[in-house]
Amino acid sequence: MSGYGLGLLVICLFFGLAGGYVGRVKGSSFTVWFLISSCIPFIGLLTAVLYRYDNRELRRECPRCHRVVKLYDAVCMRCGCELDFPDTAIAPEARVVQRMP
Ligand SMILES: [Zn+2]
Repeated sequence: MSGYGLGLLVICLFFGLAGGYVGRVKGSSFTVWFLISSCIPFIGLLTAVLYRYDNRELRRECPRCHRVVKLYDAVCMRCGCELDFPDTAIAPEARVVQRMP
């Protein structure tokens, strides 16, 4: 393999890892962003960086260490804090049912 091809491969791998990491930090799939970023290095990584947190309604913040955890996690993965299952965060658009007097 020529030096040029190997260099390009390393660059793609680097961007793939960087994009995958950024994607995972933002709550998306590492694999998806790894593939995107390694196939289209610069644009993929840029997209991953600019990509907004998805599934925002399915995540919440740990009350103790403020790490963003999955809604259904019972224990915070960082500080081990036990998390109560939230009733209110499941359906963000949920409206209070008004009872007629
Ligand atoms: Zn925590």
